[in-house]
Amino acid sequence: MRKQIVAGNWKLNPTPSNGVQLATDLMKLLNENPQPEGVGVAIAPPFTHLMEVAKVIDPKKICLAAQNCSFAESGAFTGEVAAPMLSDIGVMAVIIGHSERRSIFHEDHAILATKVDQVLKHGMRPIFCCGEVLQERNAGIQNQIVENQLKESVFHLEPGQFAKLIIAYEPVWAIGTGVVASKEQAQEIHRFIRSLIRARYGQQIADDTTILYGGSCKASNAAELFAQPDVDGGLIGGASLDAVEFHKIIHSF
Ligand code: PEP
Repeated sequence: MRKQIVAGNWKLNPTPSNGVQLATDLMKLLNENPQPEGVGVAIAPPFTHLMEVAKVIDPKKICLAAQNCSFAESGAFTGEVAAPMLSDIGVMAVIIGHSERRSIFHEDHAILATKVDQVLKHGMRPIFCCGEVLQERNAGIQNQIVENQLKESVFHLEPGQFAKLIIAYEPVWAIGTGVVASKEQAQEIHRFIRSLIRARYGQQIADDTTILYGGSCKASNAAELFAQPDVDGGLIGGASLDAVEFHKIIHSF
């Protein structure tokens, strides 16, 4: 059976010392009141924080994730951070294809496919993000958009590789806007994503794939989203920067 997961995407926040404090606070809360049985917790701090954050978290309770990695493995790529560098310091998962990477940094389907390959090659799990912008939702083409994103960047994987993926459906109009998808909207598209996985990889892998919802998810709305049959948890941006709020979300199953 698939795992339920709550993952925090810290984005470009906070300073390294405040990040270590945030991770320490979350660890303390989880020691006092552990996550529900079977629920995985992940945090994705900026690259500069990873090694210090790794020292204050228990990897059995919190999985260390990165927000991005290079399409290249090594070499003359100034400013990049490669997948083997991340796996070497204990990173277990990497967010790939976040809408901010797609829109601000112009990452296209082909680059994202290469990044997914790199993450898998180095023994980590991609958290692959997909989702439509507002105009696409208003035009009623959200399913086609998400289908295309999956086909172009992850459906080339062999079944054994795909089984390591975590999918995050993140409608771009809901990210950081305070506008959250309704539980019906979330369930409908998560179910659609699972049907695409079933068509490509079969029933077992479809049933076992964790599909997270992301976009203005917080403690006050997480429970009704997570209660949907095809919503297996959340990728949390802003609300993951507050240890108490994030801990409440972890307890929303
Ligand atoms: C995100 O950036 O992945 C996200 C879901 O952000 P927020 O929760 O702030 O909308």
